[in-house]
Amino acid sequence: MNLSYDLHSHSTASDGTLSPRDLVDYALSAGVDVLALTDHDTTEGLSEAAVAAEGSRLCLVSGVEISVTWGGQVVHIVGLGFDPQDPTLQVGLAELRTFRGWRAEEIGRRLAKHGIADAYEGAKRYSNGHLISRTHFARFLVDNGFSPDMRKVFKQYLTQGKPGHVAGEWAELDRAVNWIQGAGGEAVIAHPARYNMTRTKLRRLIGEFTEAGGVALEVVSSSHSKDEMFTMAKYSRDFSLRASAGSDYHGPETPWANLGKLAPLPDNAVPIWRGWSTEKAVAAV
Ligand code: AMP
Ligand code: MN
Ligand code: MN
Ligand code: MN
Repeated sequence: MNLSYDLHSHSTASDGTLSPRDLVDYALSAGVDVLALTDHDTTEGLSEAAVAAEGSRLCLVSGVEISVTWGGQVVHIVGLGFDPQDPTLQVGLAELRTFRGWRAEEIGRRLAKHGIADAYEGAKRYSNGHLISRTHFARFLVDNGFSPDMRKVFKQYLTQGKPGHVAGEWAELDRAVNWIQGAGGEAVIAHPARYNMTRTKLRRLIGEFTEAGGVALEVVSSSHSKDEMFTMAKYSRDFSLRASAGSDYHGPETPWANLGKLAPLPDNAVPIWRGWSTEKAVAAV
């Protein structure tokens, strides 16, 4: 049987706009059979998602998307199928959220210097008591007329060299991979074609990731073109890695990344789920 997999998605526990419960309901209606909730630097949404999936035909896989600094830039590592209670993983993620909290205040201070008052408080309101992401600042800035849309606002305010950009150190690559592996999970490089790296640098990243114990590249992603998908499938084979597929869904406001509407993996890529049990990957989180 051909199952529909979507192994990269977000909820209100990070910068998605659907609650974990609503995300699970939406995944069911979109025909997804196996879903991973992969919030940024937190597993907080997994228990609500697991309760929502209980008794349904949806198989929920535990997930997280870890922010990593590598080669002077930010890279995202997705973890799948780990034990969310693992203490080392949780201590690591908590460190990243502490940095996030400070960074959010600093973004607020920098935007204030630029003449935009109360951005921190605004972003905090959008985050509803969960962690604060640049996405929450982006929503605040767009809704208050500082920028026309969610694509432009990042370029205008929130990326390198712009008034609200704060550089910082996230997790080291091998630590992030070790947290995931140590918790019994599998590490995946998220949307590898999105980092604007040269071919040489990307292959160096994949090499170090493989060396650290990483097992897969996200070959199918809403942020990949067809050409990029085939290139990433080739890289996965070159490094004897498996291939993952995820929409990076953040909610109905960003329809270009829609849940469960993914191209099939190229024939010659080895799916990360080959050999996974068909039992629910997370029976009770
Ligand atoms: P953070 O982890 O807080 O730095 O925020 C990163 C998040 O911002 C990503 O996961 C995306 O959801 C979002 N993001 C980053 N760049 C863009 C962009 N150019 N357009 C839209 N969303 C973006
Ligand atoms: Mn995001
Ligand atoms: Mn990402
Ligand atoms: Mn993501």
